[in-house]
Amino acid sequence: MNHFPIFVALEGRRVLVAGGGDAAVAKLRLLLKTTAHITVVAETFDEVIEDWAAAGRLHLIRRRQEPGDAMCCVLAYAAQEDADLDAATVRLAAADGALVNVVDNLEQSQFITPAIVDRDPVVVAIGTEGAAPVLARKIKADLEETLPAQLGPLARIAKTFRRAANALPFGAPRRRFWAEYYDIAGPRAAEQGEDAVRAALDDLLSDHLAADARGGHVDLVGAGPGDPELLTLKARKALDAADVVIHDRLVAPEILELARREATIIDAGKEGFGPSTAQGDINACIVEHARKGLHVVRLKAGDPTVFGRLDEEIEALHAAGLPWSIVPGITAASAATASIGQSLTRRNRNASVRLITGHDMKGFADQDWRALAAPGEVAAIYMGKRAARWMQGRLLMHGAAPSTPVTIVENASRPDQRTIAATLSTLPEAVADVTGPALLLHGLAPRAAQIALSRQEVAL
Ligand code: SAH
Repeated sequence: MNHFPIFVALEGRRVLVAGGGDAAVAKLRLLLKTTAHITVVAETFDEVIEDWAAAGRLHLIRRRQEPGDAMCCVLAYAAQEDADLDAATVRLAAADGALVNVVDNLEQSQFITPAIVDRDPVVVAIGTEGAAPVLARKIKADLEETLPAQLGPLARIAKTFRRAANALPFGAPRRRFWAEYYDIAGPRAAEQGEDAVRAALDDLLSDHLAADARGGHVDLVGAGPGDPELLTLKARKALDAADVVIHDRLVAPEILELARREATIIDAGKEGFGPSTAQGDINACIVEHARKGLHVVRLKAGDPTVFGRLDEEIEALHAAGLPWSIVPGITAASAATASIGQSLTRRNRNASVRLITGHDMKGFADQDWRALAAPGEVAAIYMGKRAARWMQGRLLMHGAAPSTPVTIVENASRPDQRTIAATLSTLPEAVADVTGPALLLHGLAPRAAQIALSRQEVAL
């Protein structure tokens, strides 16, 4: 960035424009939006400039620029459309201590005037450092279209209401209030005029003060398997608004990046949260933050309702009388199955599918191995790495074919995703070097086309 954008305070300050033709008129139209004291110096002036002077909106000096004309000016514009005259302005105005812009001449200019979208007091400035003026115009046109015309009045009225709104606690409650004003209540009331907007602000504030007295709330959000694009829009919104994000170890860093910049991020996967006593501490942590009136996002890998110890957290919230809601996510089984081009259920093969865990808090988890050993059965096995040999033994004992396909998908949906096509007889060896989170798909092999594809990739 060679040009640093700033907004210069011009109230009561001087600006000099050298030139009396079209270029000067164009710049003056912009400058007249400000409260600056404007002086225009030139031998002759366009009629519009004369009119502005007659109306007392600016001051004219009818001669060539001389030393001292730009004295006490913050900014000066060289707008004579003549390289020599403009160069003289740069010299003279700079000597008087002003920053100088030469119209349409980036190299000679000490500052540039950006394209602006004006919803005073909301002003958007767009600059491309001269690289792409057409792009700047396009961005401006897009913004002109998206920013509602009443944004200016809404912001002006909001300014007078800031002190009243400070009755809401700093941070999330105040932010939510203003978001609702600009998104919904303000634009709706603006159609009926300024008084209606003021009344809407009063009503909105009472609503929010009442809501704030009720306290914070908790979203129990599924972060999906890792790929940020597999987040739901609801999860994305919750992350945008969260004051606190309490996440599991398995939640991908790319997803945490999406949390609001001011949010406090707490890793519940480590830092004092031991493996077995963790849940009680995590519950306490969630409750503590929500009790402060904060918007807490409890972010869990995959879907929060699948092997997520969700109920224990809900019970803690219920006991504390705190409101909560669940935002579902894409579970690892879905991502893993998708990655091998298969379907979790299939007509004439399996009309049901089991989501099972390899171990629970007591150790290896017992399942209905007999049912699972039958041909065509499909199970998505979570946390199955350590229990692989044990499960193999159980399934074989109950008559499963050693050739039953078992596909291991490590880091499903992440850039380091890896698929290992094994069978029940090779399973323990196949998981031996798997270090990332892995899902075992019992009864599913990668679709032949997928195998061909990955071979092709290897060949390339
Ligand atoms: N709630 C999560 C599961 C939590 S249990 C969900 O719905 O996906 C943790 C187990 O999930 C891990 O041991 C692993 O078996 C599986 N898992 C989670 N993310 C995974 C990923 N990206 N790839 C493969 N397995 C994953």
